Amino acid sequence: MPIDATQPYDDTNIFAKILRGEIPSKKVYEDEWAYAFEDINPQADIHTLVIPKGRYVSWDDFSANAPAEEIAGFVRAVGEVARAKGLVEPGYRLLANIGGHGHQEVPHLHVHIFGGHPLGPMLA
Ligand code: IMP
Repeated sequence: MPIDATQPYDDTNIFAKILRGEIPSKKVYEDEWAYAFEDINPQADIHTLVIPKGRYVSWDDFSANAPAEEIAGFVRAVGEVARAKGLVEPGYRLLANIGGHGHQEVPHLHVHIFGGHPLGPMLA
């Protein structure tokens, strides 16, 4: 079910549990600002999720409320993951779903990285 992106942050969400190490994940990358892991239900040959370590429900919450240093650290981490995966030369896709119409299901900001093959045109 899509979430309401205006809800308060819920520390029981599944990505908060992954960040706390309470449930397993296939770690790809970690630094001060971000944690990246493989999507459990991949929609492309490469499908990695990057999440901020801070408590942000969505891109809207993050972009409005995170300190600039945290935003910069997270954006740089997304790029680091793509580079580590060897995606820069062939290319890749970034996606963040936000709220109901965006069909966001997990209420902790995450950026999807898709790649590994030609992805075709973006379908809304
Ligand atoms: P959303 O629709 O943008 O919120 O995407 C949520 C994503 O999280 C989906 O692609 C799910 O497959 C993925 N997901 C849900 N639970 C887990 C998990 O426990 N580990 C890894 N990925 C997950």
